[in-house]
Parts: sequence; structure tokens; C-alpha cells
Amino acid sequence: MGIEFDNSFAKLPPRMFARLAPVPVSAPSKIVVNTALAAVLGIDLDWVESEGATEVFAGNTVPDGADPLAQLYAGHQFGQWNPQLGDGRAILLGEVVGTDGIRRDIQLKGSGQTPFSRSGDGRSALGPVLREYIVSEAMQALGVPTTRSLAAVMTGDLVYRETPQPGAILTRIAQSHIRVGTFQIHAARGDRDALNALQTLTIDRHFPEAKDPTDLLDGVVIRQASLVAQWMGLGFIHGVMNTDNCSVAGETIDYGPCAFMDTYVPGKVFSSIDQMGRYAYANQPAIAAWNCAQFATSLIPLMPDQEAAIEIFTESVNRFSDAYKTAWRKVFAAKLGLTDPREDDDALIEDLLVQMAQGGSDFTNTFASLSTTDAPDQFADRDAFSRWEKRWIARRDNGFAAIMSQANPQVIPRNHQIEAVIVAALAGDFSKFHEMLAVVTAPFDPLNDTGAAYARSPTQAEAVTRTFCGT
Ligand code: AMP
Ligand code: MG
Repeated sequence: MGIEFDNSFAKLPPRMFARLAPVPVSAPSKIVVNTALAAVLGIDLDWVESEGATEVFAGNTVPDGADPLAQLYAGHQFGQWNPQLGDGRAILLGEVVGTDGIRRDIQLKGSGQTPFSRSGDGRSALGPVLREYIVSEAMQALGVPTTRSLAAVMTGDLVYRETPQPGAILTRIAQSHIRVGTFQIHAARGDRDALNALQTLTIDRHFPEAKDPTDLLDGVVIRQASLVAQWMGLGFIHGVMNTDNCSVAGETIDYGPCAFMDTYVPGKVFSSIDQMGRYAYANQPAIAAWNCAQFATSLIPLMPDQEAAIEIFTESVNRFSDAYKTAWRKVFAAKLGLTDPREDDDALIEDLLVQMAQGGSDFTNTFASLSTTDAPDQFADRDAFSRWEKRWIARRDNGFAAIMSQANPQVIPRNHQIEAVIVAALAGDFSKFHEMLAVVTAPFDPLNDTGAAYARSPTQAEAVTRTFCGT
């Protein structure tokens, strides 16, 4: 057998989930398996590439030791409270403790209906599965906490969206799938016992030093602040920062309508369903803080004195702002090659970003070329850039180039390239998928010819400006 399960969520009170197996599919076929990740998880490498593994990743076989279940959660979606969501198209097979000692969930996404499917079919289309696989593995390579992708398979069944699409299933790996919304539902239902059990499990898995709800909240605030600062440093827009898509462990989760910016536009929105721009690039820190406030609210029933709790938790959530500012400065200072960020570096960073916004600069390529002779090409006002550059040169010290090469990727998964990968895959050609995956999972390597094609910013005609949730 290939996977050594060791399950903890399944031991929680049964009302916190629904036990059920994935719904079998017609004709499973392998698209891709992540053997490097399988090795970290301690999964048998011969097995993971076998037909037996494809049957497991398709949900047709439930492996020994798995205890499949759909998790219950709620959430604020675009600021609106939704009292019950839950895994409507995902099944947690179980958990494994990796060779690195870290416990992780193995989840099938697109595995059929559950009691939480509402009107959905429980399935995923091929396009969104490929998008999540590529972007999550790129994020990992970029050094950002994220859920990961162990495998993708085709189901052999059609799913009906605007048009019929081939169905696919992603095997998603996460430090856990515990979301802010997982806490919210038990708080909203007044189920203190469930909330308490969830708290104990969360502290055990993610915050072993935490002694009480306040420590847990502090930990979540710090991780969210750091996570969003890293997104900002890459021009990443999550697109659906609902509280049910906010991992308490601080990983990026749910790559629906996400995208990396090409041209730097602070108010940029990609998601077709985000009509108010709630989850625009520049709003992400404020939204993460808002999500932390919702998390705090869900922890109040666990505190002995609820009046006092409100005061303590307010202070904790208010610390998001300073934590974010510090994390942001660290991220962007590294992008400029500065080792010891100081508060007055903020002006240097911000002045560059203003010039980038005014000049319609490509976010990734500007930073990647900043210390080269190509840099001025990214700016509309070259004189202004040259004045800024003098200030930068005066501030930086010798080791800057080495720091910058590890902070500024040469390539990110651009939206128009992801779309091209999906179009080719829908026509039965997965070679572009594999090519792009290889390029974006080595983002700090010098570019060869293939890499250079993926690094080029799109022309106006090529640019993809809208993303769809893929549900
Ligand atoms: P998401 O926007 O992907 O985070 O999903 C929000 C909620 O809708 C979650 O409870 C999902 O499980 C559920 N959901 C999304 N797509 C489907 C689907 N095709 N079938 C059933 N439930 C779905
Ligand atoms: Mg979700």
C-alpha cells in the first residue's frame, strides 16, 4: 500500500463533518503526478505512478487507512454571511505525517456530490484543475505558503458549465483545510463543544506554542499578515478572499479566479464575480484584517469573560496593521536587495511603485530587470526613474544582486499562458501544461528560450483580463 494514513480530523465530533466516500467516475486517466511532493509525504513512489494510484486519485478506490469525509464550514462570501457551506465537491481522504514531520491533509477536489453540495454537481472541470495545479506549485516554488497539488486525473465524464467540459479531479495537499469559516459555523450555531474541539486540534497542528484562544488569534493574525505581504510582493491577486477560503494555517488556498498581474495596476481585479472590486490587489491587506476580525469573533465563545475578550481580541486584530507593514517592508526591501530594511525605506519602495503604476510597468519584469540596463524600458518617465535609481544605488550595499535574485522571480504563471495551456489541453495536448509547469516551478533560474517566452508580458491582444471561478 502506498499511503500511510494517520487521521486526526476524523476523530472530532461527527457533527463537524459528513462521512462519505468519493463518487466513482467512468474512466480515470492520469494527467500528472507530483513525485517530489509524494516523496515528502512518504508515499511509495512506485505506487504513486501506478494505475492503482490513479484509481485512488479519481475516487474510485478508497485506500486502506483513509477515513473519507466532507468538512462542514460556513463563511462570509463577499462580505455576506452564508450560514452553511462545507465541502460541496471535495473529500478529505485522510492525513499523513511526512518525512519532514509535518502532518498534511490529502483531499480530492471535484470528487462528486456531498451533503454540502447545495445545487452544485460536486465536480470540477479540467481547466480550473490545471490552473490550480500550476499556480499552487508555482507559489510553492516562489516561497509562499500554499496548498499543493499531488495529482490531477481526468474522470472520463463531462461536467456542464457554460459548455460541456471534461471533468477532472485535483488531489490537494494542505497543512490542513481548517478555515476561518470552519470556526465560524460552530460559533454561529452556539456549539461550544465543537468549537473547543476544533481549537484543540488547530493548536495541536499549527500553533503548538499557543496556550489559549488569544495566542491562537495572534498566530493567525501574524500568518495572514505575512502571507498577504508575500502575495503583494508578487503581484498576486487571490480573487475570492472569503472567510471560507482563508486557511487558519496561513496557506494560500482556493485558486479559483486568482491571477498574477502583468501591468502594475494597484486597483486591479480579475474575477468576473468581484464586481465591486472588494478583492482588488490593493484591498487584500484590509480584507485579510477583516477576515481576522471574523476569526476573532468566532473565538469569543471560548473566552471566560466575553466583555474582556472583545477588548483583548480587538487589540490583537489591530496588530495586523503593524505586522503587515513590517512584513511588506521586508518583502519589498528584499526586492530592492536591501538586507536591513528600515522604516525610511518605505518611501523608496513606494516612490518606485508610483512610477511603475504611472508608467504601466510590468510588475514582475520591472523587478527582475531593475539592476540591469533594461530597467528604464519599463518606465514611461525615464528621467524620473533615473533620479529614483540614484537614491537606490546610494542606499544599497554590495550584496544586493544576490538578494534580489532570490526575491524577484524571472517568471510567474501569467494568465494568458495558463489560458493557452488550458486550450491546448482541451484539444488533448498536455505538452504545454508540462512545459509551463516546469518553467514556473523554477522561477528564480536564469531564463532559457522556453522560459523567456513565458516571461514576456502579453501584448494588449494577448492579455487575459477576466478570470472565472470555475465552479
Ligand atoms: P469556492 O468558491 O470554490 O470556494 O466554493 C464555495 C462553496 O461552493 C464551497 O462550499 C464549495 O464546496 C461549493 N462548491 C463550489 N463548486 C461546487 C460544485 N461544482 N458542486 C458543489 N459544490 C460546489
Ligand atoms: Mg472555497
